[in-house]
Amino acid sequence: MTDRIALISGASRGLGRAMALHLAGSRAGIIGTYRTGAAEADALKHEIEAKGGKAAMIPLDVTDTSGFPRFTEAVAATLRDTFSRQQFDYLVNNAGIGVRANFAETTEAQFDALVATHLRGPVFLTQRLLPLIKDGGRILNVSSGFVRFTLPGYSVYAAMKAATEVLTRFMAVELGERRIRVNAIAPGAIATDFAGGAVRDNEAVHAFVAQGIALGRVGLPDDIGGAVAAILSDDMGWANGTCFDISGGQML
Ligand code: NAD
Repeated sequence: MTDRIALISGASRGLGRAMALHLAGSRAGIIGTYRTGAAEADALKHEIEAKGGKAAMIPLDVTDTSGFPRFTEAVAATLRDTFSRQQFDYLVNNAGIGVRANFAETTEAQFDALVATHLRGPVFLTQRLLPLIKDGGRILNVSSGFVRFTLPGYSVYAAMKAATEVLTRFMAVELGERRIRVNAIAPGAIATDFAGGAVRDNEAVHAFVAQGIALGRVGLPDDIGGAVAAILSDDMGWANGTCFDISGGQML
């Protein structure tokens, strides 16, 4: 039995996957998107179903705005066919890429990829999906601890995430008339494939990051999945237009 329905971009692995599992554990139906990881998306769908939940996976490239009308139709069809619904409750704009490049060496191609993935994609995808989001629903954008603290190599990436946080506030103001709450989370460093998996796989990076976190270890996908399920719960319904730092106390 599913109460709410969450659409999560980039759900096939990393943070999106953990969000899907935690939300499914809170009885939400899941519509996940994947770009290349069809097999991983399928495995996630089966894992959710094995625990009694309901899930559907739809391909999406957030940099390809021309595909958004087709994607939106696929979401509407999935809502109808899988969930017997016309709208969903939670949109999580999670899909993202980590491009490590010092400011002086950042190329236009890297800049364009970051803008397309982190800013243009979420703006026009959300715009397109608005009619399918229930009045009183929620949008959660994924920012980054790099908006608050600084390390070399992430200037343009962090600038995109800063834009995400500003956008979050303006979206909250404009969507308030539909009682749609719009918030963001800013995860600290989490051990995923992100930026080539450096935090997870590179011992020196892992140790450096861990010593900068008050709780003494790097974050894990479940740390974020649990937080997202909590933030999207009804008890957090008065939170709006804000950004939650979920970093274990990184670089305080
Ligand atoms: P990840 O690399 O494990 O997963 C990224 C997901 O985004 C994948 O499912 C991937 O397919 C999807 N994706 C990437 N480009 C896409 C595109 N063009 N179209 C559609 N999907 C696309 O990384 P993650 O750590 O799970 O990152 C998830 C989000 O969290 C990103 O927005 C990232 O910026 C943010 N974030 C991550 C960390 C971290 O340390 N891992 C920290 C702060 C914020």
